[in-house]
Amino acid sequence: MSPRLVSIVAAVSMAGVVAVAFASVVTRPAERSFAKHLEPGVYACRACERPLFRSEDKFESTTRWPSFRKSVSESVVTRPDVSYGMKRTEVLCSQCNAHLGHVFEDGDRTGDTHPDARWRYCILSAALAFELREGQ
Ligand SMILES: [Zn+2]
Repeated sequence: MSPRLVSIVAAVSMAGVVAVAFASVVTRPAERSFAKHLEPGVYACRACERPLFRSEDKFESTTRWPSFRKSVSESVVTRPDVSYGMKRTEVLCSQCNAHLGHVFEDGDRTGDTHPDARWRYCILSAALAFELREGQ
C-alpha cells in the first residue's frame, strides 16, 4: 500500500469508529422506546414514511426490543448481515433502503403467543415514526 492509501484507509476506519461510537451514544436512549408502546396504529419508516408495521402484529418480546411478527406486505426487504461476527438477517425499508433492524426466527420463544408466532422483526425505535389510528 502506498503511504497515501494507508493514510486514507486510516482516516476511513477512524471515521467508522467515531460514527459507531457516536451512534451508540445518540441512539441508545431512543432505540427501545417503542418496545412497550401498545397504542393502535401504524409504524412507518422515519426516513420516507412508508407504512412498515401494524400495531396488531406487534408483541411484547422478552428481548425488550420493539418486536413485530410480520411487516406490512412488501414494505421491507432483507439481506444477509455478517457484521460483528454474527450471522443475521438485516431488515431494510423496501422504498428508501433505510436500515430498520434484523429479523430472527424465534418469535415463539421470545414472548409471542400468537398462533402464527415464528418471526421476530427486531426494529430500532429510531427508525420508526408512529402514526396513531384514530377512533379505536
Ligand atoms: Zn423508508
